[in-house]
Amino acid sequence: MTAPNTQQWTDLAAATTSSTHQCPACKDLERGRKQAEAARDLSRVTDFRVLIVRHRMRHAAAES
Ligand SMILES: [Zn+2]
Repeated sequence: MTAPNTQQWTDLAAATTSSTHQCPACKDLERGRKQAEAARDLSRVTDFRVLIVRHRMRHAAAES
């Protein structure tokens, strides 16, 4: 297995979305994810989750 496991990303997203840190970019990504969920576009939902995790990792890196 060489490709990143999408499930790991989404588990990480579930863990990190409990973070209280929010910024305009976070809110844009959350809104996009909710719109994708409303449209039942699961591939877009997954894309947004990955984007949210990557974005929040940048928060964590900036804060430490
Ligand atoms: Zn943010």
